[in-house]
Amino acid sequence: MKRTESEKTESDITTHGQNPYEIVKSLIKESVTRLGLHENIYHMLKKPMRMLEVSIPVRMDDGTLKNFTGYRAQHIDILGPTKGGIRFHPMVNIDEVKALSIWMSLKSAILDLPLGGGKGGVIVDPESLSDRELETLSRTYIRKITPIIGPQKDIPAPDVNTNPEVMGWMIDEFDQLRGYNIPGMLTGKPIIIGGSLGRLEATGRGVVFTIREAAKELGMELDKSTVAIQGFGNVGSMTAKFLHELGVKIVAVTDARGGIYRKEGIDIPDLLEFVGDKENYASDYPHADAITNEEMFGLPVDILVPAAVENQITKETAPTIQAKILAEAANGPTTPEGDKILEEKGIFVIPDILCNAGGVTVSYFEWVQNSMNYYWKEEEINQKLEEKMLFGFNTVFTMREEKKCFMREAAYMVGINHLVKAMNARGWIKDSDLSDS
Ligand code: NAD
Repeated sequence: MKRTESEKTESDITTHGQNPYEIVKSLIKESVTRLGLHENIYHMLKKPMRMLEVSIPVRMDDGTLKNFTGYRAQHIDILGPTKGGIRFHPMVNIDEVKALSIWMSLKSAILDLPLGGGKGGVIVDPESLSDRELETLSRTYIRKITPIIGPQKDIPAPDVNTNPEVMGWMIDEFDQLRGYNIPGMLTGKPIIIGGSLGRLEATGRGVVFTIREAAKELGMELDKSTVAIQGFGNVGSMTAKFLHELGVKIVAVTDARGGIYRKEGIDIPDLLEFVGDKENYASDYPHADAITNEEMFGLPVDILVPAAVENQITKETAPTIQAKILAEAANGPTTPEGDKILEEKGIFVIPDILCNAGGVTVSYFEWVQNSMNYYWKEEEINQKLEEKMLFGFNTVFTMREEKKCFMREAAYMVGINHLVKAMNARGWIKDSDLSDS
């Protein structure tokens, strides 16, 4: 379904003017200082090792030619090939892609995955494209980045506005170029061509594992808790599904066009059917009241889950938050000013680089299965995912206790420490870089 430019809402196009690359660089700098490492470490980690910009010409249905812009960033490959999603969004920009690639490196490091960080994006509103235009754009983008990707180099996956169907077109294009099937060249594929069971659900499932652990630490009973979720795409909807299965009451859900609220709890299976089967927006669901994204942040809920885009928890929205747990299912949902307010309010934050790492974890499992040419049962995948998420949560939580700091700082320190060990083992840095004196 096409939407015209004028139908785009304010929330579609606002990221509150914050630059995620500047934010991630300052977080790395702070952690390097706190860990007592030399500032050389910051300089090693602050920028991607490789950055590609490509033009993507597409012949539109009306005969005109549009030339879109795309990027691929590869942050650091000391632990293994770089890996990360591809985003189609009008707000994609070079700094966002760089930041997202750094976050991918940190996620893999925290969960001890043998991968580095990568990310891609195309500046486009996919809802303004026909199916044919979208397929042409997807195939052309992957052709343009082919020289720098591959199962041993850099492995793409889905992100905002890309899904298994898009991954199917992309892998087909890559295979056609190479002349044979290379299933491990990207993850998040349809199951029939080498996708992994559980990948579609993985990020949301992982988010819920971390919420469960946080609730345990805070002595909260999940079956008596309420939640509001921003974003009802892949991650938001799967988070809702698994929280609902644990007996959590989901009272509000929003998307780019608005939101819905029901004090008694939204019927999540019915909402999933409404959204999935008929390609509706969650905000159009008729059995609940209308609510805005801004109002949703201030609801009296126990858990708040931003699962949309960056920079949503700001100095304007953070003061209104009443939740005890903020589970960052999205990448970079909180600005530094917003974060400070959350800290002052004593809200327990499960930081993005831990909270949403379930996606890359099952993507890693998909890549492993592709290289073995042997496929695991879903139960086994979910169990391995749970082990990894618990490992990540406990490592970060222990660092928080040791350093008497917040969860975000602890997550950055765990990730950076891991990357430092690998850089040291490869001789990229010297012992003198391990101290700030
Ligand atoms: P998606 O495209 O499937 O869904 C995005 C959702 O957010 C949609 O419901 C959209 O309407 C909504 N949205 C967009 N802009 C909004 C705004 N300004 N206000 C409110 N809602 C808005 O994307 P996704 O794959 O679910 O990704 C969501 C977030 O999770 C992103 O930050 C992404 O980087 C992150 N993430 C995704 C994965 C994954 O496996 N898909 C893994 C890790 C992290």
